[in-house]
Parts: sequence; C-alpha cells; structure tokens
Amino acid sequence: MKIKISEIFYSLQGELPGLGIPSIFVRFYGCNLKCKWCDTKYSFEGEEYKDMSLKEIINEIKKYKCKNVVITGGEPTFQYDNLISLMDILFDLNYNITVETNGTTPILFHFKGHINYVVSPKTISYSYSDSINYFKKCFSKFKIVHVSDDFVENIIEFYDLPKDMIIIMPFGASKVELEENQIKTFDFCKENELRMGYRLQISLFDKKRGV
Ligand code: SF4
Repeated sequence: MKIKISEIFYSLQGELPGLGIPSIFVRFYGCNLKCKWCDTKYSFEGEEYKDMSLKEIINEIKKYKCKNVVITGGEPTFQYDNLISLMDILFDLNYNITVETNGTTPILFHFKGHINYVVSPKTISYSYSDSINYFKKCFSKFKIVHVSDDFVENIIEFYDLPKDMIIIMPFGASKVELEENQIKTFDFCKENELRMGYRLQISLFDKKRGV
C-alpha cells in the first residue's frame, strides 16, 4: 500500500487550537475541493508528492523525538483507507494525533482512541451536513477562514456550529495579505464574540514551506 505524501516535517503548530505545540506534520497529497484562496495548492496540484509505504512514513516520523503528529493536507480523507491505517499505527505507538480536514468526509466509525479533529468547512452543502454533525460529536474545533463576513456567518448558520467550537482564521496566504486582513478579523470576532485564530508561520516566514 502506497500513500501519496506531499511532505513530512517537524515544526511548531502555527494555528489554534494547538498553537505553539511542537509537532510532526504529515501532509497528504490530494483534495476533493479546489478553494480559490487555498494556501497549499502544491498539495493537490502538480506532481509534487512521494509514494510512501506506511513503514516509510513511520520511519520518517520516528526520526524526531516529538510525540505529536498532525495529519494535514490537501485533504487527508481523500486517501481514506490509508489515513485510517496510519492513524491506527500511530495510535498504537502512543502518538498524540491531530487530523486537519475540510469536514466533507466523516471518519465512518468510532476510532479506537481519542483524535483531535480540526475541521475547516469551506463550502455549504446539505451533502456535508451529516459529516459536520459527526465531527461536532467528536468535540472537534471548527476553523473558518474569514474570506468575508457573509462567508463566515453563512457557514456558522448553515451547519449550526456552537460558538465555543469555532475559531475564525484571518485570511492571508502571504504576510502582506495577512497584515491587510487581520484587523478586519479582529473587529469581526470582537463584534460577534467569536474566538480569533492566528497564522504563526505566515506571520514569521511568509510563504516559506516546511518551517
Ligand atoms: S479544502 Fe483545504 S486543501 Fe483543499 S483546496 Fe480547500 S483550502 Fe486547499
């Protein structure tokens, strides 16, 4: 079994809810959505990935002392069976696992242990409602990108997201964009009593990858 992996690297988590936590990032290749504002297009466009076996991925992860693994993308559930197999092994090896997903595909059974799900809904559709409801039951955090006030308000209303599960992310795929937008997000969150997120990597390193 080979898994398409965009990159594996060690860093500090740059976004809430795990901001600042040292983590190993495993970026799956491929995504079922094509968001215009995506800041990781290299994770589903072009051919920039490696076909890796589970053993190769685990060996790469074991090079670091860190016990926190963030599985991200692209969209990790796009390679569903591979994702579950990797989660299974990491769980048995006592890793603390976070899965970042766009929330369009639920993990279709109760996984054998606790997983931190960070769900970032990007679009409104009845076809994703069951999946989002599933992730609500898993005590997930929902990160919504502040593309516009309407976009955020529509997502919260449509999926009926509880306020204490929501993090609003300032929009910005570069340092300049982030600086332009984060005060708008600050004001929006203040007015609507919502928690504001942050983009540590972009703020510190701009578009640099693997940091
Ligand atoms: S769901 Fe995420 S990874 Fe996929 S295109 Fe949208 S922002 Fe990019």
